[in-house]
Amino acid sequence: MGLERVYVLSMNVDLLANTLAELNQPAFRLAQAKRAFFVELLGSWAEVTPFPKPLREQLAERVPWSSLTPVQTVESSRGDTVKTLFSTADLPGRQAGGNKIEAVLMRHEGGRNTVCISSQIGCAMACAFCATGTMGWKRNLTAEEMVDQVLHFSRRLKGKAAHVTNVVFMGMGEPLNNYDEVMKAVRILNDPDGICLGARHITISTCGLVPGIRRLAKEPIQINLAISLHSAIDATRSDIMPVNKAFPVRKLMEAVDEYAERTNRKVFFEYLLLKGVNDTKEEAEALVNLLGHNKRLYHVNLIKYHDTDMFDATDREARVRFMHWLQRRGMPVTHRISFGEDIDAACGQLAVNDAAGMLAQGKLAVRANRKTKPASAAALEVRERQRARS
Ligand code: SF4
Repeated sequence: MGLERVYVLSMNVDLLANTLAELNQPAFRLAQAKRAFFVELLGSWAEVTPFPKPLREQLAERVPWSSLTPVQTVESSRGDTVKTLFSTADLPGRQAGGNKIEAVLMRHEGGRNTVCISSQIGCAMACAFCATGTMGWKRNLTAEEMVDQVLHFSRRLKGKAAHVTNVVFMGMGEPLNNYDEVMKAVRILNDPDGICLGARHITISTCGLVPGIRRLAKEPIQINLAISLHSAIDATRSDIMPVNKAFPVRKLMEAVDEYAERTNRKVFFEYLLLKGVNDTKEEAEALVNLLGHNKRLYHVNLIKYHDTDMFDATDREARVRFMHWLQRRGMPVTHRISFGEDIDAACGQLAVNDAAGMLAQGKLAVRANRKTKPASAAALEVRERQRARS
């Protein structure tokens, strides 16, 4: 794909080109502007100093530099995690702006810099452990809005002589419910003439939408797939992830097996450990029984839960025990380092907090139904049901 098409998908280059033409600017100005945006990663029209000041001021009024405005940035005490809350701009004729989405930068030892981005405003999938799930779905993000989350952190890292090395679609929203725009964003990120992020450094994470997984298997681009599994037992998984009622574990695994066979690519299974819900030996056994037939390509990522008022996190000792149960049966497993616990880094927490704050001020109507439950009430319900079943 050439640069021209990429630019049309990201910054509104049609608007830019028309505006430059109306201002009687020579053709080379368009190429200069594109380079300043995608390659030099400048932060605003004011920084495009090859342009005369009056021109910069006119462009700043007429062509937005970004589809997103950062409204809050928080950094973890260790400095390895930065989370930004963005406000969206108006989508003319489609949607008023002012919605909140968030993205997280995680700086790993060894120089890897991963940005976790949102693909939707809110989410319809209503996973019981997820702050975003309490918001309901509002709208899909455009490819431009997704790329702008990455560019925000690219600019930030440029000042530290570093760059974004990995992007994961693991923030607010279910990426496969916004398939076309997500794939457009992937192509923009991957374009060798633009941002040039290797496909193997891009991961799409799904809660288990089988048709989307099948579609992804046919894509020519070699991106990674992660499955938010969180339980290999239907009864538990249906309790915490309503999507499991539509696509139960076996159906999900048929699609994932097909994906693995077709692409010969590793698949990562995300597993948040929730105290008393999915951290038992029975759950560990079920997990190995489900995935153990393909230890070459299947890999489990155990993740420490960020305590919320919905569930309690499994404590460290129990997490290590769970990992050993998997390892003893030869299952490839990583205990993923938890980033940004002190800054609400888990999916949707800042946006939900922001929405709750605005709700209190009477500015915004959000569905905050589950959030109003007392601490861990959702977890207690799940545990109650488990006890009744056993
Ligand atoms: S975990 Fe992902 S799919 Fe589930 S509600 Fe949250 S954002 Fe949606």
